[in-house]
Amino acid sequence: MKRKALPLVLAAILAFCAAASFAQKIDVYSRPLQTEPSRDYQALHYRIALDFDVAKTSFTGENTITLAPFREGLTSIGLDAETFSVTGVRLADGTPLAFKQAAGRLTVELPKPYPIGAKVSFTVAYRAAGLGASGDRKKGINFVEATPANPALIVARSFPDGARHWFPCYDHPNGKVTQEILATVPREYRVLSNGRLLAVTENPGRGTKTYHWSQDKPHATYLSALIAGPYVVTEAAPGPVPIAYWYYEKDAKDAPIAFKKTPDIIAFLGKTYGYDYPWDKYDQVIVPGGGGTETTSATMLTQTVIHDAKAEKDFSIDRWLVTHEAAHHWWGDLVTCRDWGHTWINESFGTYSEVHYAEAFDGKDEAAVDLLGKKNRYFQEAATRYMRPIVFHRWEEPGQNFDRHTYQKGATVVHMMRWILGEKPFLAAISHFLHKHAFQPADTNDMLTAIKEATGQNLDWFFDEWLLKPGHPIFDVKADWSAETKKLTWRVVQTQDTSAGVPIFRTPVVLSAVTAAGRAPQKVWITGKDSEFVFDCPQKPVMVRFDDGDFLLKEWTFERPVDELLFQLSHDDVIGRMWAAAQLGRHAEEARVAPALRQAAQGDPFWAVRRDALYVLGGFEGPIDNDERTNIPWTRLNDGFKPGRFLNAGLAAFLKERTSDVNPKVRAAAFWALGNLRDEAQVPFLTRRFAADDSYGAQAQILVAIGKAGDRGAVPFLKTAAAMDSPSTILKRAAEWALGELK
Ligand SMILES: [Zn+2]
Repeated sequence: MKRKALPLVLAAILAFCAAASFAQKIDVYSRPLQTEPSRDYQALHYRIALDFDVAKTSFTGENTITLAPFREGLTSIGLDAETFSVTGVRLADGTPLAFKQAAGRLTVELPKPYPIGAKVSFTVAYRAAGLGASGDRKKGINFVEATPANPALIVARSFPDGARHWFPCYDHPNGKVTQEILATVPREYRVLSNGRLLAVTENPGRGTKTYHWSQDKPHATYLSALIAGPYVVTEAAPGPVPIAYWYYEKDAKDAPIAFKKTPDIIAFLGKTYGYDYPWDKYDQVIVPGGGGTETTSATMLTQTVIHDAKAEKDFSIDRWLVTHEAAHHWWGDLVTCRDWGHTWINESFGTYSEVHYAEAFDGKDEAAVDLLGKKNRYFQEAATRYMRPIVFHRWEEPGQNFDRHTYQKGATVVHMMRWILGEKPFLAAISHFLHKHAFQPADTNDMLTAIKEATGQNLDWFFDEWLLKPGHPIFDVKADWSAETKKLTWRVVQTQDTSAGVPIFRTPVVLSAVTAAGRAPQKVWITGKDSEFVFDCPQKPVMVRFDDGDFLLKEWTFERPVDELLFQLSHDDVIGRMWAAAQLGRHAEEARVAPALRQAAQGDPFWAVRRDALYVLGGFEGPIDNDERTNIPWTRLNDGFKPGRFLNAGLAAFLKERTSDVNPKVRAAAFWALGNLRDEAQVPFLTRRFAADDSYGAQAQILVAIGKAGDRGAVPFLKTAAAMDSPSTILKRAAEWALGELK
């Protein structure tokens, strides 16, 4: 599950600097305590038959439920049932059973007590009338109206507790069932569901068809899928897993762009997890609304994943959403969090798959930048909303646990776990966990045990501080070299506020010193609030690095002299170079700094360093997140804008040259900086470049820059741009922002 709306492009720089203090703005501890429900029976199989009347936004249904008692003498069955009205319950031979429906529950009285070991089967008939047309995201069945963006559709929303709104069931993630879905729909519709399609039958005289799908491997009810509409279906080339894409007819040209990497992603994930793709097939279907939902073997993706070839360079949807939802077919679908308090088992690994993917397909630098973005997304939530333990059992509704702690912080915890265990033991542990708990629910302790069994390592301490307690370390770091003793002394003090349960962390960390003799990384253990480490270091280091490799989720302050930062800007790894660029922004008064930043903006081999150097030159002062995918980048960039540091008339020619960078995110940064000159004379250049640039993200920043330049003569140009079509309406929004500036 990924709930965020899909956005475009850019955004900048680094939130490495320590944010002062964390106000707990939302009291998550006042939410009611939730526990995994006890149950009297194990549901085994649902045979759900639904007949839709689209015109009346109504449906009738029957669910034949097969279950096995967990206790002796079972006489009464409680089921979750909402939105629809039950009209009758009967045994297979037609014998009617007494039932009561009230307050979201259906209680069925059995004709006799059933013992453990018995199988019980009965059919519930029900109907839901006049549901009304909806945009998309009601729990249960949505009759989606046609809009210019999508045809009329029927979409079932089962996550996290929506299944009970379209069929009576045991609707908690600790129970898994096999299932059949028979859906009768207008004959021009196609129906997608979980598992295998057994049959499609015409219903003569009614103008309808019935699709019969069978899911014969057990899964949780929140993963049940039913999507119906006039879809076009394309199958991927034959491979070990049948893969198909469901989209609207109007998207025929662009649909392959978003989906084309799916077979590679499925193969890659199976290899990484040491477990072949577990389900019968993999379909992806587009629907209205944001994000994606990992309904087993029938993933729903927001229709905004469809984008044209031009947007591909800004908008690498395959890199995260397709990967994320595919990864859930192991993390969530194959092994399911036992209750929503352990939802990190689904989402942390789902989110971390994006880093794994970036590493394998785009290289380790792209993966490092992706991970940095995730850290910063979490820091933003921690700073502005709340901090909570990742394993957390307080919520009013389960969706509250699907936040940046679960996704982004969880992914960084998986990254640290991978580093602490080492690559091979980490992969052995996750493969063992998946095999051991396949087709079952599991919890945090199961993961801890699987790690012990597969690697011999006891990570109790790690789970305790990163999963069971809130927060993260904030380090104040000092490193001093003594010419007299030829020793390098590190002092690391943990300064986080521990009053609300945030621990003093125990963690390994790599401390590096770079001298003429090379780079000397030292792995040490921080075990207390105040730690000191002393190393022999015959020469004065030209650079030192705290947390070399950038493994830890941390904030830190680390004052370094300009000489070192300049060396780091041109010699360190990508994350170190980005950090150095941001730090140098605080030394604008030094004459050497601006030329060094220009050099980085022009000559660094990696785009994110060039981009961040431009943001610093353009007056940006963090912290903000580095996430490429979230909302409207210029808004946050302008929030972080501090004028008068590097900006001067002499910068214009340099920035204009940089608007020709090969990378659109770098070009966008150059346009943003150029706009900050607020120079009307740049408008003709900007309008020319708008026509020439082939990136929506860069074009959006051009429009923003035109707005900032303050030339009211540009209003007609901006109005034309506001009417242009673009993914996530990024051009329209940028043009409207610019028009607002010119008012
Ligand atoms: Zn997810």
